[in-house]
Amino acid sequence: MTAHTQETSIQEFERAWMEKAITLATNSVTNGGGPFGALVAKDGEVVATGHNQVTSTLDPVAHAEVSAMRAACRELNTFSLEGCVLITSCEPCPMCLAAALWARVDRLVYSADRHDAAVAGFDDRNFYDLFEKKPQSMWPMSVEHLDLPNRTAPFDAWLAKADRIAY
Ligand SMILES: [Zn+2]
Repeated sequence: MTAHTQETSIQEFERAWMEKAITLATNSVTNGGGPFGALVAKDGEVVATGHNQVTSTLDPVAHAEVSAMRAACRELNTFSLEGCVLITSCEPCPMCLAAALWARVDRLVYSADRHDAAVAGFDDRNFYDLFEKKPQSMWPMSVEHLDLPNRTAPFDAWLAKADRIAY
């Protein structure tokens, strides 16, 4: 599917879900959270919602999308959101985009974009730029490689475990 056809694949009920996500985001501000809201839906039904709780829970990864996906997994009693749609009030940051990939979400729909978030003082666009354009030597955080002889021991243990649950 191309980016062009994605625009026209939005269903009418998904517009209503997006309205709900935007309302969650706006209410989040009122309640002391960040201005982001998200929900996870499956088979035409909303499974769980989430809003940004970074400052209220002292959790830098408690973004709306992560919160919604965690709640949806609890609700569905699974670690996979295959077959689910993630509706989010704003374009997901790189972390949330990766989290959605890890969760095996089928589709993701957002409304405000990284540029709108930048106007409000959020780093989403900066982080995308870091990943896409900046060499790691220019990052605000250093990432270093320490090669130890037993570096693959955890993977060896994993591969040797016959009853491992793949994810
Ligand atoms: Zn995020």
